[in-house]
Amino acid sequence: MNTLTLMTTSYFDGTRHHTNGPYRIDIHDGVIVKIERDQHQSPASNRVINAPFVMPGLVEAHCHLFLDGNELDLEKRKQYLSAPRAQMLEIGRQSLAENLAAGVTLIRDAGDIHGINHELRQELSQGSSVTARLRSPGRAIRKAGRYGGFMAEETTDARSIEHTVRKLASTADDLKILLTGIIDFEKGQMKGGVQFDLDETRLIVAVAREHGLKTFAHCSGIDGLRIAVEAGIDSIEHGFFMDRSIVNVMADKGIAWVPTFSPVWFQYEHPHHCQWNQASVEGLKRILDNHFEYIAVASDAGVPIVAGSDAGSFGAGHGRGLVDELMFHRRAGLSLEKVLASGTSTPRRLWNCPSADIAVGNQADLLILEGSPFDALDNLRRVRCVVRGVSQLKIETPLLTKESPHAA
Ligand SMILES: [Zn+2]
Repeated sequence: MNTLTLMTTSYFDGTRHHTNGPYRIDIHDGVIVKIERDQHQSPASNRVINAPFVMPGLVEAHCHLFLDGNELDLEKRKQYLSAPRAQMLEIGRQSLAENLAAGVTLIRDAGDIHGINHELRQELSQGSSVTARLRSPGRAIRKAGRYGGFMAEETTDARSIEHTVRKLASTADDLKILLTGIIDFEKGQMKGGVQFDLDETRLIVAVAREHGLKTFAHCSGIDGLRIAVEAGIDSIEHGFFMDRSIVNVMADKGIAWVPTFSPVWFQYEHPHHCQWNQASVEGLKRILDNHFEYIAVASDAGVPIVAGSDAGSFGAGHGRGLVDELMFHRRAGLSLEKVLASGTSTPRRLWNCPSADIAVGNQADLLILEGSPFDALDNLRRVRCVVRGVSQLKIETPLLTKESPHAA
């Protein structure tokens, strides 16, 4: 039998913080079999690790693996969209490695037109070492001529919508919808109207459900949000310009919210990279303030808040962006337990994925940190080791303690 014992003074189980250590966590053949308050190592274990802090592996709920968020040259980013496939695959593999180094063990890609996400999923399923699991939508769906060319397939009328959803559903883990366009930061409003009306959105949701798929929608602005919640989209991505009436329906229907602060914050903090003028910077600030306010309101109302960084977007690096996102959730006023749950147990539960909670009977899918995030949230950047089943991966270059974004 392959046995491993973790000795730790405190841990987060996915919901609760346990501080009455020392604890002994026994893992047999990759499954957690015992958790006890005890300072003695299990006599049966052939490996013992002294772990400063233990928690479930992180979940990145929204990223684009084929894009490199650290590339800040706008011209190069544009050219990259027609780069050879081999180069995109290489960037995708690098993005996966960056996620793993940050302790991310489950990823939901948010769409790419080239299907690099599907190809990476295939590669991961064949690998034997410690890797992240990947949920891939393949291509997203959008209206012809509207926003999202780098990630979504075009549709026109109801017939083409139905046909496209059925086609995508045959290989997708989730269905990604582009329901609105992007934000005009200077004017502080959405660019263009919604892409799909209520009937079309209902059709997308119904066909996706027929295939057992959950739906997640790129959606900001009140018009799009109304349609999204009315049609019963499972998860709102971005969700800027939120208001109380939308929050109430989300809470009633159990619709999740993935607020993706990271790329918007980056543009606010580094306006020169985008040549934003003063009016745009002020617009960004108002939008972010509203977002911070409503994340807290939504969380209090019972809306499931899920951490996703939109990594791959301008300024949002893979792995690093997710930890930043957790910092933003904290800044919004969520309790530390809720912050950590948004990046661990909440998404796994919503997506019907195997639980990674630190609990007897679960497969080991956990992180050892150099310190407790309850002492300093930046300790999330100090992953020592990822344990998946019977395998361990030592993190050679953790994110370390760079300035946390909520300090500003
Ligand atoms: Zn995205």
